Amino acid sequence: MFHIPEPPSDVRIERITCVDVVGTSPKMIGKNAVRDDHGSTTTERLVRVFTNTGHDGLGVTRVPVASMEADDIPRALGASPFAFADPASGIVLRGLEHALWDVIGKVAGLPVYALLGGSVRSAVDAYDGALYFCDLLDPARGLARVAEEATESVAHGHRAIKMKVGRGHRWMPSAEGFRRDVEAIRAVRRTVGPDIFLMIDGNNGFDRPGAERLLEEVGDQDLYWAEEMFPETIEDYEQFRTFLDRRRLRTLIAEGETLPDWPPIQPYLERRLIDVVQLDMNQIGLSAWRRLAAFAETGGVRCSPHTWSSRFAVYASLHLGKAIPNFLSAEVPAYEPDAYRPAGFTFRDGQYIVSDMPGWGLVIDEPVYESRYRAQEKRYEKQ
Ligand SMILES: [Mg+2]
Repeated sequence: MFHIPEPPSDVRIERITCVDVVGTSPKMIGKNAVRDDHGSTTTERLVRVFTNTGHDGLGVTRVPVASMEADDIPRALGASPFAFADPASGIVLRGLEHALWDVIGKVAGLPVYALLGGSVRSAVDAYDGALYFCDLLDPARGLARVAEEATESVAHGHRAIKMKVGRGHRWMPSAEGFRRDVEAIRAVRRTVGPDIFLMIDGNNGFDRPGAERLLEEVGDQDLYWAEEMFPETIEDYEQFRTFLDRRRLRTLIAEGETLPDWPPIQPYLERRLIDVVQLDMNQIGLSAWRRLAAFAETGGVRCSPHTWSSRFAVYASLHLGKAIPNFLSAEVPAYEPDAYRPAGFTFRDGQYIVSDMPGWGLVIDEPVYESRYRAQEKRYEKQ
């Protein structure tokens, strides 16, 4: 499944650093169905590994520092990065996984997608995942603000937009929130026209009958997928599937971002109760995602990893999308990090061309890193 090149004999990891880096959104991000205002900044834990050969790799991790210090870091220091790479499993050191993909790619002179099996497409679809309840941030403008954000999204080159729904779960009286969701969907569709893919995300803020009622109301709005509309059980998902079929709605069922690992979603994939699987890229890591994608492919399920709040996870998703046939779309969050930037990626007409540079095609902005992050960095070296 993975293409792991022959390791050179003399490469070993000499130093590892960890630091939280900041991402900033040009717009304020409001509520979704369950969480209050998300704000305009976020953080990612950036890990860097440095070798004796002058190579370095970067990646983002969600593994807690204490666990990395007890396990990943002592195992990695002094070892070859290739010692943790396996053709069947990918990288087997979770906390350092993404940084190791980068450094192995750089040592071998290959982009990460080549390590995942090679290119199956020239460009990878992506979507704007940043249309939250901005009407609640700006009540005076309300739906006009929602339409404006959709217009801005298309102006930035997006051809697919996902909007949050479920205002009636916590933030508005139930019936009023439901009406606002319906009006917001109609406003966005009217604004962007029929050619833009439009998706909705309920963050589990509905129950099944409520989700069905919403889809019935907006059945004429050509919704591409409905994501996490209600907490998943096999029985509810079977009924939801039956409902969509009976109404002849072609809306795809998307699910999985909150799951810590992929075995719990297997029964849904095996029964074809999910069309688009969405586990979080940083949560399970690229290696597990590549294996999940292979499993999903056998059932005709498509892949669209959850990335929200991590720009790094977008680049990891794009390399995955370049390498697997059943990739659907990469989620683009609003936040941009200051510590690193892409090199060799281009975005146009809703699609990314993926960098051919060795590793991810991401470079550290050294002056920014030096001034904002160096002093807070945790640093580990081979004694
Ligand atoms: Mg979601």
